[in-house]
Amino acid sequence: MGQSMVAITESDCTGCDLCISHCPFEALLPLASNPKSRTHKKRPVIVVASQCVGCLSCIGSCPTGALYEIQVPLDASQSTLLLMPPAPMTEPVNRWKKGGIGWA
Ligand code: SF4
Ligand code: SF4
Repeated sequence: MGQSMVAITESDCTGCDLCISHCPFEALLPLASNPKSRTHKKRPVIVVASQCVGCLSCIGSCPTGALYEIQVPLDASQSTLLLMPPAPMTEPVNRWKKGGIGWA
């Protein structure tokens, strides 16, 4: 048994941003640019692995079912978080100012 975390199937992510406000830890953020290989017009949202605590609050918020649970090993020396490359550039999300998205 490992630690839960969330991952996104990029091809199923339309970039609708609905999931962003469902994450209390600001672990769901839009990519700064749309990958050239992508078929959707809008850039995808990614999971910032270092921010995700695996609370699964977001998991039911995706209308396309792109979010899914994964398990990472409890042993820190084997953790996939330690093997991940640096996080890609993401767009800032305005949550708390007037007109921001706040929480769901
Ligand atoms: S709710 Fe689903 S489709 Fe919309 S941005 Fe989040 S992961 Fe992508
Ligand atoms: S599992 Fe929790 S911390 Fe991780 S992305 Fe979803 S809501 Fe955020």
